[in-house]
Parts: sequence; C-alpha cells; structure tokens
Amino acid sequence: MRFDQPVGTLSQRDTSAWAGGWIDANPIGTKYVNGATGLGAYHTGADLNCNTPTWDADAHAAVFASADGIVVFAGPKPVWVSIIVIKHVVDERVVFTRYAHVENMLVKTGDVVRRGQQIAQVGNANGAMPYHLHFDVSFANLEKSPGDWPGLDLVRLERDYVDPQAWINSHRKQEETQDMAAGKLMIDGTDGDGLNVRATGAANGVKIGWLADGEPVNVVAQQNGWSQIEFVNSTRGSTARGWVKSDWVKSVTGEALPPTPVTPPIVKKSMLMGVNVLNDFGALREAEANGCKFVMVMDGVSEAVNFARAHPDGYAMLRRYIGSAGWGANDFIRGLGVAADMPRNLVLTLFNEADTWGSSPDQLEQRMRVEVDFVSKARALEYQGIIALGTFSMGNPQFAPNAPEFGETVALIKKYYAPLWNNGLIALDYHAYSPSMTHLNNDGDLFWYERRWEGFFRYGGLDPAKGLGVFFGECGVDEMGVGGFTQHGASSQSIAAWIRRFVEIQMRPLEIDGRQYPSPVRGGAIFSYGNNGDPRWRDGYDIRTLGAAPFKNAGVWG
Ligand SMILES: [Zn+2]
Repeated sequence: MRFDQPVGTLSQRDTSAWAGGWIDANPIGTKYVNGATGLGAYHTGADLNCNTPTWDADAHAAVFASADGIVVFAGPKPVWVSIIVIKHVVDERVVFTRYAHVENMLVKTGDVVRRGQQIAQVGNANGAMPYHLHFDVSFANLEKSPGDWPGLDLVRLERDYVDPQAWINSHRKQEETQDMAAGKLMIDGTDGDGLNVRATGAANGVKIGWLADGEPVNVVAQQNGWSQIEFVNSTRGSTARGWVKSDWVKSVTGEALPPTPVTPPIVKKSMLMGVNVLNDFGALREAEANGCKFVMVMDGVSEAVNFARAHPDGYAMLRRYIGSAGWGANDFIRGLGVAADMPRNLVLTLFNEADTWGSSPDQLEQRMRVEVDFVSKARALEYQGIIALGTFSMGNPQFAPNAPEFGETVALIKKYYAPLWNNGLIALDYHAYSPSMTHLNNDGDLFWYERRWEGFFRYGGLDPAKGLGVFFGECGVDEMGVGGFTQHGASSQSIAAWIRRFVEIQMRPLEIDGRQYPSPVRGGAIFSYGNNGDPRWRDGYDIRTLGAAPFKNAGVWG
C-alpha cells in the first residue's frame, strides 16, 4: 500500500516526505516538554509546519489521508483538541496514521477514505498552539486509544511508533489494485457508451483517454464533484491519471463513493467583515488602506480581481448592476468577465434581489435556471473562483412552513441549488440585515433576519457539511427600505459593537436534525461604505459620514 505525506499539493505529495517547503519542527524521539501539560515526553511523530512564503503559511492548509483506510476516530480529545485516526492494513498488519490539532474535519468515524482525499485543515488547537499538523504512524491500537501517548516511555515509543518520514519514503510504490473495505472501484453506469477521461477536472478538459463500463480504477483525489483516477491506458499499456465526474465511479459492490470532499478555497475560523462599496472605487481603496480584506464591488471587474489577488487571505465579491435588463447566463459570463485565470477567492454573484425578478416561485425558477446555466458555463470555461447564488434579502425566500408559497419555494431550492451545493460547486449569497440596532439581542427572532440563510439547510436539502460557504454581499441594519446605520443615528462605537455581536451570532453552529455543524458563513460586507451618488443612499447608509474610527485597528475586519 502506498503512503503520501498528508499535506501539500498533489505533485508535492507525489514526490517524497517532506516536500514543498514543509518541515518537521519536532522529529520523532525528540525529548521536549509539552506546553499544554507541562509534562516531558518523547515526540511520537512529526510536527509539520510550512512557514514560507509567509509565517503560518500552513494555517488552514488542506490535510489529506496519507493512504487508503477507514476512519476509526474523528473528534475531540483533551490537550490534542482534535484528532483523526485512520486505520490501514499493510501486508496483513494493522497500522494507524494520526492527524492532530486539525480544524474543519470533513470525515467521521466509519468513513472509508482514499489516499489523497482531504480530511480536514491544519489548525492551531483552538489557539493553544502554533498552526501545525501533528502526524504520526503507529502500531499501537489507536482505534481503542486515539490519544495514545507514551510520554517518557522510550521503550514503548520505539516499539509502537515509526518515523513517519521514513515510513512514507519506504511506501512509495503504487500497487496494481487496491483491496479495501469498500471493494475495488470501477467505472459504472455509462450505459455502455463509455466514459471520456479528461486532463483537468472540468467538463471541457482535454480528453486523454476513454474507459468502458467495468474498468477498474483507483481514485487518488477528489474535488468539486470530480475524481482524479489512475487507470490503465490500454493503447500504451501503462498507468495514467485523469479526471472523471465522481458519479461514474462506483465500488464493485455497487455502492457510491464516499461523499466527495469539498476543497474550500479559503476558510478562516471566524468570518471576515468588510464593506460593500458599490462602484465607488475610491471608497474601496480607502477601506483597503484601513485593513479591510472583504469587499463587495459593483461593476468593477478588474478592481475586484485585483483586490482578490492582493488579499489571498480575503475575498472580493463582484456583481454587475443590471437593473431591469433580462440577463441570461451568457450575459453574465461576459458582464463578469469570467475567465480561467480569475483568483480562487473571487466571489461572483448574479441577480441582485432588486434586479429584474422578484421572489415569487415563478420568478425564482426563472432566475435559478439562468444561475444553473451560468454555473455550468463558468465551470466549462475553467473558472476557478467561487460562484455565490441566491442573493436573497430580508423576508426572502419564504421559509415559514405555513406560508402559501413555502412548498414551491423549497422544492425549487431542492431542485436547482441543492445538487450544485452538495457537489461543492456553489456558495450562497445572502443579504443579512437587522431590523434595528438592538435586534441582535433577541435570540429567539434571529432566524427571520440575520440567520434566515439557515432555512436553505433546514428545508432546502443543502448539506451543511458541503458547499463553498455563505457570503453576505450586504449586511447591516435596515428597516425595509432606505435606513442604514446613519439613519438609525448609530455612533462609531455602536456600529463596532453591532459588528462584533453580528459575527458572534453568525459563527454559532448550524444545527440540523439534532447534529451540529460549523457555521458556513465566510464573510459579510456592510452596505454601503461608498454611495452611488443618490443622496438617499449616501445619507442613509454611508458609514463614512460617521468617521472611519471603528474600522481602524479595532479588530472588526477579521
Ligand atoms: Zn506533535
């Protein structure tokens, strides 16, 4: 069985341990004092760090299963904070790999995982440690004792743990077939037409091969509904790698693959707060100079792209003002300048809630059809950024189960949004407003205003463990019309207090069917920092009239 290093790009993981600038800050056998317990110990594995090009470049980096196996533990443990243990069978011997201090786990106990499948992100033990991945390889029964720790027992350390770097480098050989719990994988369900294998994971990727039903394959990576497979190129008689839609890969027993792990573009533990500047690019630069890393821009395609490039740890959202124009998917493709080289942290939105169509079921279906068409066209152009659909506002969509349009509305969400979200192809855009400055203190009423986006998960079939996140292209305080912070006579201090409370509320876990999930919210743009020249909007919303004091070094951006 083959083992790869658990971090880095595919080509780095293909090389050897440790490749791609990753260093082991605390190699196995190093005697040290554990800062969290104050106890001495011999380290059981590697503490993988990556500090170039920037300090903490490893923060939130993807963590991958080192080899095929079964997750036997994924959860919290004291001191470790979080642990994933994967059980492997190598030459009829059981060996475990352990991944600790991680965040945003994508697997649970009992999941079958493939080598190269993302399982979590590099964390910092909830702030108790510097960002790093503790990774070890053990023959001790970590299924029974996921937190096993020999401490100063050097005899047991040498018996039960192996050097993870040496282990990986001595398990590089690719086996012909992989027998594991889920059975061998094969191409299935093409109805005899065969399946094109593509060079990249996109519908218009160059075709590099063709496979018939029943061909055995190995899946080496998965993202956004596509699986990278290893297959035998029959004309050359050699093994090749390519991409196919995950739907066509099944185990020989007919089971579907484990759920496709989503590769979130950038995930922060907390959401980013920023500003919606409309088309005031002076305001954009002013916010940027004050440390803002999250903006919503109208019409400025190159401004949004440049901002996203300049702030890889932030996001730029982009929309086009279309008024009553009935734009179709191709209009949005052109209007947003969709291109393959756009940055991954650019967030495109389509219809604003005030544009063209409203939120009656018929109007919803009209816009959803255009949106779905746009997603497939943008992905066919190999657009790598985020597409945030929806752009619903206060009162929409209707999630009151006794409302006459409730049934139709959730049926449309299930039909059009859920398949895209659940395959990691879209994010949601929502406009999250408070009806008053004090509303955030009213916990019982949050669902109808600031947290209405929960309805997509509660009723609409969106899986909380998937998708590309929820973004607020607009947020703030409003009263069903013109009336932002300034209209409410808010002070700089009360705006800052509103923002902190808003972030705390948005970061509360999402509870669906009794199970808790991390909040999918990624960021929010306060409407509006700039103005579009209309004094009603400027006077009602432009928080610059209050002075930028709360936004300078007040910690409200991040
Ligand atoms: Zn460690």
